[in-house]
Amino acid sequence: MFFDLGTSKSKSNIKEYYDMIIIGGGPAGVAAGIYAVQGGIKPLIIEKDLDGGQINLTEYVENYPGFSSITGEELAEKMGEHAKKFGVEFHYGEVINVNFEKEEKIISLDDGNIVKAKTVVIATGATPRKLNVPGEKEFAGRGVSYCATCDGHFFKNQKVAVIGGGNTAVEEALYLSKIAKEVYIIHRRDKLRADKIYQDKAFNTANIKFIWNSVVKEIKGDKKVNQLVLENRENGEVSNFDVDGVFVFVGLLPVTQLFKDKIKLDDYGYIIVDEHRETNVKGVFAAGDVIQKELRQIITAAADGAIAASFAVREYFN
Ligand code: NAP
Repeated sequence: MFFDLGTSKSKSNIKEYYDMIIIGGGPAGVAAGIYAVQGGIKPLIIEKDLDGGQINLTEYVENYPGFSSITGEELAEKMGEHAKKFGVEFHYGEVINVNFEKEEKIISLDDGNIVKAKTVVIATGATPRKLNVPGEKEFAGRGVSYCATCDGHFFKNQKVAVIGGGNTAVEEALYLSKIAKEVYIIHRRDKLRADKIYQDKAFNTANIKFIWNSVVKEIKGDKKVNQLVLENRENGEVSNFDVDGVFVFVGLLPVTQLFKDKIKLDDYGYIIVDEHRETNVKGVFAAGDVIQKELRQIITAAADGAIAASFAVREYFN
């Protein structure tokens, strides 16, 4: 999940043992929970922020079958409600340690709870990658943002930059174009990576402008961000660009720090799974944005969760 999204924490009578512990309550985790219950086993979802995970940060979802347009928040809420209605138990807290060495897996939480299970589904998702340039850390929350739906309203009628050329960057630029006076998409190449449908929308939005072949070298400001130092990658020219805010959408980093040295990860930190979404450790499955795969979407996350839970039931409980 991207940020601390607020809280939907509630009292939970967590037990010591579950058939399946699902770490993360986004679409992958929720789908795993629903399929686990359908398979006749008892799952617990451990979520550190809000049901639905990253979907909460999306303004509108328009590519999930059955919903031609729904706000991210509403879809996230519906997913949580659906799982709870089916009898999936939720606990709101953060996992701080896992032990997958024995058949019984042990999960430790920041609130002191320790829970055990025969199977685990890791559905921890991914967080935004940083630019790692001077000024980024210093001005985070003071003009540097990683979430347009959270912070866009601070930039009403102002001039903002969006860094990146993928689906997230272009979608968020479209969102910001309704609030800010001007939105500059600054991309390191001369072509966007985003799907054509979003590209077309952006090219046809009057207050979205493009700065191609350029990278941010530094973010400058006083109390708040007021300038970017840009480098043109074609001619090496360095220039200053005045802005009121900068939104960074340069890809994702999988949330797998807890699992390093415990399960097999690829070179980028994504979890390697087989076609049943099982990791190299027996009984430990993974699903959603956190796994090595081609297409990171709500629908593929939900599908991963369903596959993981179904095969866990088939392999470990029948
Ligand atoms: P992404 O697709 O990996 O795109 C990252 C963008 O940032 C790329 O344009 C990349 O440039 C650029 N970039 C990477 N590192 C950079 C750096 N250090 N400096 C400047 N630019 C940099 O990531 P994403 O947009 O966050 O999307 C993540 C996944 O979620 C994708 O699979 C995406 O399709 C999916 N997603 C789907 C939807 C949807 O279907 N509605 C919405 C959002 C996200 P290059 O192009 O040159 O590599």
